[in-house]
Amino acid sequence: MKTYTAIVLAAGSGKRMNAKVQKQYLEVAGKPILYYTLKAFEESGVTEIVLVTGAGQEEYCRREIIEKYSFQKIKKIVAGGKERYHSVYEGLLAAKGADYVLIHDGARPMVDGAVIQRSMEAAEKYQACAAGVPAKDTIKIVNEEQIAKETPDRSRVWQVQTPQAFFYPLILEAYGKLMETEGIAVTDDAMVVERMTSVPVKMIEGSYRNIKITTPDDLLIAEMYLGA
Ligand code: C5P
Repeated sequence: MKTYTAIVLAAGSGKRMNAKVQKQYLEVAGKPILYYTLKAFEESGVTEIVLVTGAGQEEYCRREIIEKYSFQKIKKIVAGGKERYHSVYEGLLAAKGADYVLIHDGARPMVDGAVIQRSMEAAEKYQACAAGVPAKDTIKIVNEEQIAKETPDRSRVWQVQTPQAFFYPLILEAYGKLMETEGIAVTDDAMVVERMTSVPVKMIEGSYRNIKITTPDDLLIAEMYLGA
């Protein structure tokens, strides 16, 4: 049996939310956002979960989320780092021994079992995959003066989400190289594989509901779906 470890990232500060509480702990329909994210993985086919939280929040998460809601698959809680990719790297080190890892933003609570299942299957088949959806809007590439310079063919433009799932030795190698060359602006994990290895990343079908809670508007959308 292959083992799949989900790395759930919850170490961000969530500045764009303008709230006192970090966004992953904000409540939607009576429960913290992070609860819904963890529940989706708890009920999926993943073997175990590594939770990455802000330094000093480990005990709070253990008490207020893991014990309170009786999660069984969370085997480790580790402190993240300054940027998302630092947090991912800490999660990867804690996932040692897994065959595959699924890296997921804690701030995407509307991820569902079907997307998680597709990610696990594609990771095994392609070694590297990322969930996403075809862009509904036309996308423009602009210059520094906000002048439209390019309009990519919309049928080839995808919005990228998480989970992003990988063969563990591959993603560990890619992140190992990244950590040696700090300074690259990294916004997702697939990008690290694209830059640091020759393995192609397969895009797989995510879901339009699987948004990242970033600004207060997103909370209304989450309330609508999760409170239903
Ligand atoms: O900041 P952003 O919305 O892109 O964060 C995406 C996810 O990565 C969130 O779930 C956030 O908690 C996590 N993150 C992290 N460590 C950081 C920054 C972000 O775990 N240093």
